[in-house]
Amino acid sequence: MLLKDLTSDELATALADLAPPQRLVRQLHSSAVRRNATELPAEVPTVSWRLLDQIRERVAIPRLKLVNKVVSPQDGFAKYLFEGDGPGRFEAVRIPLLHRPGDEKYVVCVSSQIGCAMGCTFCATGRMGFQRNLATWEIVDQVTQVQADSPHPVRGVVFMGMGEPMLNYDRVIRAARIFSEPCGMQISGKAITISTVGIVPGIRRFTEEGHPYRLIVSLTSARSEERAKVLPVEKTYPLPELMAAVREHHAATNKRVTLAWTVLGGINTSREEAKALAELTRDLPILLDLIDVNDPTGEYRRPSGEEANAFRDALREELAAPVQRRYSGGQDIHGACGMLAAT
Ligand code: SF4
Repeated sequence: MLLKDLTSDELATALADLAPPQRLVRQLHSSAVRRNATELPAEVPTVSWRLLDQIRERVAIPRLKLVNKVVSPQDGFAKYLFEGDGPGRFEAVRIPLLHRPGDEKYVVCVSSQIGCAMGCTFCATGRMGFQRNLATWEIVDQVTQVQADSPHPVRGVVFMGMGEPMLNYDRVIRAARIFSEPCGMQISGKAITISTVGIVPGIRRFTEEGHPYRLIVSLTSARSEERAKVLPVEKTYPLPELMAAVREHHAATNKRVTLAWTVLGGINTSREEAKALAELTRDLPILLDLIDVNDPTGEYRRPSGEEANAFRDALREELAAPVQRRYSGGQDIHGACGMLAAT
């Protein structure tokens, strides 16, 4: 079995017949996940050689191969290219939050799949098509390795890299558990964000299971016909069904729902969109995240300053909800939202 693939409780259960002390299980888990150990310890005080040997026979510490790392000279975002235990490469992005002296930290944007089947038309990962799901350890080790390479702690994880997290649900949730375990990465559940383009069964399961992690739903258009042109998932889970699931999530958590909006110049910045969004989210507390599109192919463009201002004005007038513009860094290293293509 592989460390980084199991929570510490699952590891304890898997080793139960050897009856290892609980402290030892936590120590092994922590050394692999948090301290990036590459081997099990040769000896541990008060633990017999025989027990350590038996554990060593069963347990291995897997490790991603770091193929490349690029740091943006513009904003300090860093993109890591990895190979795991299977075909294909994938990326993680380290987002620096260094503005508070004494509280410098990072958030890591992780991949959950190689490629993506969702085919959002403005996304480089979507254009790759789907290749495979990542294993839990392949998700966990992105953060372990980024942490080992960083001078400040990783305090947050966002599942917004390659892939649709809700389509690799079990492994994503297990990875999130490992990130937040006291003997794992010790990242607060509230600082772990799972983003979806609108997989309704995944949102419903996530709600039913009552996880502490944040949910972000990509809307990008509040008009079904327009949304379907850029997010093909609209044909499978149309807006009324998606919003019903989002409302259920709010009812269960009582938390403001974050909706993401990739701003596509000339496509989803009209007053009609603002009105449709207001209608769709009536009586639902939301936060709207605007993210400018990043499309190196040039098929989609960012809105002009005038267009962006007019859309913000329309949102302010039509929508009784906070709107924020999310900085999407690492554009110069192709590490920004929508640009990850394992290159
Ligand atoms: Fe997949 Fe997300 Fe890209 Fe859509 S935006 S194709 S869900 S990775």
